[in-house]
Amino acid sequence: MLIVEDEASLARLMALELEHAGFTTATVATGQQALAEAQAGHFDCLILDVMLPDLSGFEICRRVRETADTPIIIVTARGQIPDKVAGLELGADDYVVKPVNTEELAARIRAVVRRRPGGSAHSTAVYTIGNLSLWSDQHQVRVNGQNVALTLLEFRMLEHFLSHPNRVQSREALLDAVWGVDFVGDTNLVDVTVGRLRRRLRSVQADTTIETVRGVGYVLRRDQQ
Ligand code: CA
Repeated sequence: MLIVEDEASLARLMALELEHAGFTTATVATGQQALAEAQAGHFDCLILDVMLPDLSGFEICRRVRETADTPIIIVTARGQIPDKVAGLELGADDYVVKPVNTEELAARIRAVVRRRPGGSAHSTAVYTIGNLSLWSDQHQVRVNGQNVALTLLEFRMLEHFLSHPNRVQSREALLDAVWGVDFVGDTNLVDVTVGRLRRRLRSVQADTTIETVRGVGYVLRRDQQ
């Protein structure tokens, strides 16, 4: 994985501890280096600091997402809730708060990397609702026959909704299904990802909608004809 961090001592510490936890790491200190490395595409995960000397972590996240679905974990300063949400809106898969607890970071990396297509949890199911179809094993979604690019989280969430049609899913159920039962996250992640997926489905004119069930959660339903 690629660690993007301009504080040399922190970068070195994270690399050491993550390697101790069994990961292979590389480290860069600027946004431009990060983009070049990410575009070369040899990393299974990006650990992205927000405050960098040239580009912000958010900007890097946005640019990487234009071309790649590589898992991204944002490292943000404590308590900056709007920052966290901004990162997720731009397509980050998760975030950790400084000071970084490497054990927690390692668990989060395992959770996002496990969600990769071809991971053992994946089935070969095909789901269809209205004009939308999803192929689990090929990590493919089509609406009216056209491919729709989704991030891994959006894909996993859509897959979960499609396998539970018309059944209301609580935020906790979605957190378990999409992020994993051993994952300690907050339901902000769920709300932001639902919002992103909902807008995406609308933008490609899918005839299904993720509806909010106030106080309960979310449900995927085919639109009324
Ligand atoms: Ca920094």
